[in-house]
Amino acid sequence: MKITIIGGGYVGLVTGACFADTGHDTTIIDVDPAKVAMINEKRAPIFEPGLESILLRAIGKNLRASLSYDSVGTSDLTFICVGTPPNDDGSANLSYIESASRSIGTALQKSTGFHVVVVKSTVPPGTTETVVCPAVLAFAHKTGDEIAFAMNPEFLREGRAIEDFRKPDRIVIGSSQPRAGDRVAEVYRTFSAPVVRTGLAAAEMIKYTSNAFLATKISFSNEIGNICKDLGIDVYEVMEGVGLDQRIGPKFLDAGAGFGGSCFPKDVSSLSVLAGRAGVDPKILRAVLDVNEEQPYRLVALLEKKTGNLSGKRIAVLGLAFKDNTDDVRDSRSIPVIQELLKKGARVIAFDPMAGQNMQKIFPAIEYAGSAGDALNGADGCLVMTEWPEFGRIDKEFELMAHRIVIEGRRILSWNGAEGICW
Ligand code: NAD
Repeated sequence: MKITIIGGGYVGLVTGACFADTGHDTTIIDVDPAKVAMINEKRAPIFEPGLESILLRAIGKNLRASLSYDSVGTSDLTFICVGTPPNDDGSANLSYIESASRSIGTALQKSTGFHVVVVKSTVPPGTTETVVCPAVLAFAHKTGDEIAFAMNPEFLREGRAIEDFRKPDRIVIGSSQPRAGDRVAEVYRTFSAPVVRTGLAAAEMIKYTSNAFLATKISFSNEIGNICKDLGIDVYEVMEGVGLDQRIGPKFLDAGAGFGGSCFPKDVSSLSVLAGRAGVDPKILRAVLDVNEEQPYRLVALLEKKTGNLSGKRIAVLGLAFKDNTDDVRDSRSIPVIQELLKKGARVIAFDPMAGQNMQKIFPAIEYAGSAGDALNGADGCLVMTEWPEFGRIDKEFELMAHRIVIEGRRILSWNGAEGICW
């Protein structure tokens, strides 16, 4: 099939690369000239394991990036993968969705034949029908007989995105009419995952609900972890016993510094705002966010209890990415941690294997070390913020610290007796 992807970020680039890798002729459109140039030079603008090797194989053959929307008019399907960042009130900012929809409509003015526009971005229920459809049809000067709409949420995890895209637990396809959904299903013909066919708004709600549920598991585990810490119980032992119950499952029970990233915080906030607008008090969602907001401050408070007044102390922060295997720092829990450390007068020395450059845009004035050992050298305390597997191998480097006070926000150290926020 001929596929156009709008937005070459984490989701759009992975989606485009994987579609090309399964044989589809794919064009990725982005408004950022630097991103477009990098992709066409077979270089990934983001760190994502396995992505660059697909670009090396597919660019110049059946994959390309472009600033122009021209390919939309000759494609069978166009996937919208632009960002939906939070507004100040926590609701989803749909301005990128709106402008992409207008550009798609304009590009479809002269097209002949049936075209399907698929929303892959995470959007509030009702967005595809009330925002995307009218904008595309109005700018294309066409009717719903010539252009139809589908919603196909993405569930990939950064750092494991290629694997997740290829082997999803399920493929959700919401559509305005069956033949739109059939065309999307055709793209995934070779995938073995179960396909769930729904209406547009239900597909949008499935994505929000999945993320809200996973975030709830994390905040629940963190609350249990906070209680366990006080009672002197190892929460990881507890959750191992809990997670073996098949009704609960072992995943997303890792207590720690809370969830970050570009999805969980914004999607739970957006769902809360939606609930409020619908006249429903989102008690559970609010609690999920409250617990998450508090964890970074608990971590710094615990550190301060061990080190004494943090003013003037040299504190190593290991891990800046919101999770391992990515360079993404959006809403990373290390951001409020560093802010709080700086507020208390500490000198922060940060290290991350991949995300240092991205964090420099947020904290240009703190010190960035070239290795964990450099960060730890002479430090009065250390906070571990990301579960990079290589941090699990840190051992002798801790001896370089002026005072060996180490607290984990993620349980990754193999050092026996390492203390964590919840353990
Ligand atoms: P991103 O910010 O990394 O990428 C968005 C891209 O869209 C950017 O490169 C931007 O330049 C481009 N863009 C913006 N407006 C455009 C326009 N009018 N035309 C063409 N390009 C345009 O965002 P992301 O992380 O890929 O997320 C995209 C969507 O997917 C969001 O709704 C997000 O919630 C959802 N999602 C993200 C993940 C994830 O792990 N990142 C997982 C599942 C779903």
